[in-house]
Parts: sequence; structure tokens; C-alpha cells
Amino acid sequence: MGKMLKERLMITGCAFAVLLLLAAVSPRPAKPAVPARPVMASCLNGMTICVDAGHGGKDGGARAMDSRVWEREMNLAVAKQVQEKLEQRGVKVIMTRTGESTFSDEKREDLTQRMELAREEKADLLLSIHMNEYRSRKESGPQVFYRMGQEESRLLAGTLQSALIETLQPEKKRSALAGDYYILSMEIPSVLIECGFLSNSAEEKKLLDENYQSLIADAVADGVEEFVRLRTGLDGEKQETGENLLSGEEASET
Ligand SMILES: [Zn+2]
Repeated sequence: MGKMLKERLMITGCAFAVLLLLAAVSPRPAKPAVPARPVMASCLNGMTICVDAGHGGKDGGARAMDSRVWEREMNLAVAKQVQEKLEQRGVKVIMTRTGESTFSDEKREDLTQRMELAREEKADLLLSIHMNEYRSRKESGPQVFYRMGQEESRLLAGTLQSALIETLQPEKKRSALAGDYYILSMEIPSVLIECGFLSNSAEEKKLLDENYQSLIADAVADGVEEFVRLRTGLDGEKQETGENLLSGEEASET
């Protein structure tokens, strides 16, 4: 090896060592803190959700057995609470009605226009709020419906049903069910939420209570959040729960 080459190698070696040293001691730019999971004040932030207070105007819906209050009034009270809770989570809420008046006295036409409103406003989801009734006064508990064949609606119905059961802890545990409701024939995930039974005295009292209505609204907002988390796959572990929810939903209702 010639002297010149030796020197060049030494110089190259030294330069390399200096570079290594510089790399070791120079302060690295601070890495932005990346949380393990996105911090969710709410994953609903920025969404548009259509909240439909069922019935209205001439269409009173079911009637509470004891208080004789019409379903349309209770639906509106709960829908307004749902609106408030969703807005707190950054959602733009589209209400199909904010008072007793409806688009039309003709039921089908009225529902069509409600759906048209949701479409025009580019809603991401539709939640239709109702109260249930049954000939047996023993029936109780919330019941969520989705349209057969709509997988995303089915998932949404499942997360809502779970959230409602968990929050309200009704005597009767229910699974979300397929239901053939016209308002559910939307292109977006759409569900019909029967908050409870007006034909059940004890449940009627609860459903008329503002605090209970507020609990329902919290559960609805929670259920929608869970749906969004599952759908966007932000939570890998819960994804499995979502599958479980789906498989449990065909349970027949008595
Ligand atoms: Zn109804």
C-alpha cells in the first residue's frame, strides 16, 4: 500500500468517525408525540347525522297507556336530547322536525320528504326515534331495528342496542332486529330506535322522565361512536366484538 493511499484511507476513516460522532451528539429533532390510539374527544367530530323524531302532526303514533301522552311528543323530546348530545360531540345534526308540524299529512309522502332532507344534507347516518307498544303490558326494553341486507345498518343497530342495554339496564335484554320500515330504505346506515314500551306502566313513567331521556340520548351517542370506531377499524380488538354483535343479531324475538 503506497503512502498516499494510506493517508487517504486514514483521512476518509477520520471523516467517517467525525460523522458518526456528530450523529451521536447532535440533538435530534424532537419527535412529535404519537399516542398509541388517536385521542378521541369524539370520533363523531365533523359527521352529519339525521335525527328523525318519529310521527308528528296528525300522526300521533302510539299512545302512553297511563299518561295518555302521544308517542310523537316523546319522540321529539328524546330526539332533541339526542341532537344536543351529538352536537356536543361535534356532529352537525339534521332534524326532520323540531316541532309538531310535518312535511305532509300523508304518511308516505312525509317519510319520503324526511329521507329527501337527509339526502340533500348529505347525512352520514339516519337515526329514527320511536316508542314501542305491545298488546302485552309486560314487554319492556329498548329495541333497535335495521333493514335486512344492509350490513352497515346492522352493525349500527348492534352497537346502539348494546349501548342502550348497557346504559338503561332493562329487565329484558334484546338484540337488534331486522324490520321492514320505509324510513330505513336509505343508502346510508339507518336505524329505527324504539326507546321502550309505552304499553308498560313502569317503562312509560321512565320514558316520560327527562333524566331517563337524557340517558337514552347518551347511549345513542355512545352507540354511534362505537359504530364509527368499529367501521373505521381504529380499534382492532373491538373489531372482533363487532363481528360478535353481528352474529348475535339474528336472535328471534318473542
Ligand atoms: Zn312510532
